[in-house]
Amino acid sequence: MQRNVAILGATGSIGASALDVIAQHPDRYRVSALTAGRQWEALLELVERFRPPVAALRDPAAAHHLEDAIRKRGLSTRVLCDAEGLRDVATLPEIDTVIAAIVGAAGLEPTLAAARAGKRILLANKETLVLAGEVFMAAVRDSGAVLLPIDSEHNAIFQCLPHDRTRAPAACGVRRILLTASGGPFRDTPVAELESVTPEQACAHPKWRMGRKISVDSATMMNKGLEVIEAHWLFGVAREAIEVVIHPESVVHSLVEYLDGSVLAQLGNPDMRTPIAQALAWPERISSGVAPLELARIGSLNFFAPDLARFPCLDVAYDALSAGGTAPAILNAANEVAVGAFLERKIGFLDIARACQATMRRLPATPISSLADALDADREARAVARELLNLEQSQQLPA
Ligand code: NDP
Ligand code: MG
Repeated sequence: MQRNVAILGATGSIGASALDVIAQHPDRYRVSALTAGRQWEALLELVERFRPPVAALRDPAAAHHLEDAIRKRGLSTRVLCDAEGLRDVATLPEIDTVIAAIVGAAGLEPTLAAARAGKRILLANKETLVLAGEVFMAAVRDSGAVLLPIDSEHNAIFQCLPHDRTRAPAACGVRRILLTASGGPFRDTPVAELESVTPEQACAHPKWRMGRKISVDSATMMNKGLEVIEAHWLFGVAREAIEVVIHPESVVHSLVEYLDGSVLAQLGNPDMRTPIAQALAWPERISSGVAPLELARIGSLNFFAPDLARFPCLDVAYDALSAGGTAPAILNAANEVAVGAFLERKIGFLDIARACQATMRRLPATPISSLADALDADREARAVARELLNLEQSQQLPA
């Protein structure tokens, strides 16, 4: 059976890896829809190459340019736009698989729409679970959607957990989940030097090539904090049973510890095509194009406890998970604003953690029971973070 795949965030790093795997298996997967934010020329290139029946851009002006260019080239791809267009792509009846790879809170609405429509969802957009974990997981359960994590750590855990998904991990003898973290580019940088590091240094990740936002999150370790929250919702594991361990080689992608002392891990070269191929084919296996892991060449694998003085963002994320309700959404919004400002050289690297802490202190957590609750918290926290950082209104696309 050939699957019809939509990629939300096709022009990004995950989008490129997904298209690479799909292109290796034309008999199994058809690219049925591709979306992006506003880079219409990059999306046009992908449309020319993969000829999807539908393409969408969040930015209406960019969608207009794309539509013009598509007509001039005599292609038949239909172009949608705006938040509504992205939601429509995620719920098209002819699409069975949605790869959720938009960056940030902007991914929430279309990914939730895909869940409500009962799609098979390959989830990279961790912000969906951080903002509205309870609402999203309820939608997955109610509609019978199939949720497959492609964040490498969560994909590893998915592979190491028992096959019985009807019982909580604790009921299957799982004691702990261990998320590995590379420690990013500043693992050994003297803390005093962190105040003045540049966006280029922060984005130069030692092991993974990723989009700029998640690269900065890896440098602050907010990424791991968001992943702790992601793991909590995905697998139904309590905060106390989720630990983080630094593993600079990025070969062990995460581990599951059982009551009897067994620890199962998933290993592989650090290349997102492995988790993407695993999730695309699940429960079967397909090739991904990733080179085999040569353990003898790697030699040794190292593990350290994270230093919370160096990485305060990790601590803040654990606090947000404990506080519950809107706290993770508030944290995520403050972080997105601060990372954007850091990338635009308006604030320093250490201001990111400070802005997150200050925004969390300013806004107390309230319960979340709907998408609207999550989006309200996101909006409010963005405004507070901008005010705290003395930033003007954002030029970024709205969520
Ligand atoms: P990129 O920045 O490389 O790509 C982001 C994609 O989202 C682009 O297609 C971009 O379009 C689109 N986009 C940006 N803003 C909007 C918006 N407002 N509305 C709609 N679309 C938008 O990100 P990554 O591929 O690195 O990351 C994507 C997601 O996957 C993130 O949530 C990240 O945390 C997660 N992830 C990424 C990993 C990686 O290895 N890269 C690993 C694990 C998880 P445009 O090009 O037009 O801006
Ligand atoms: Mg990850």
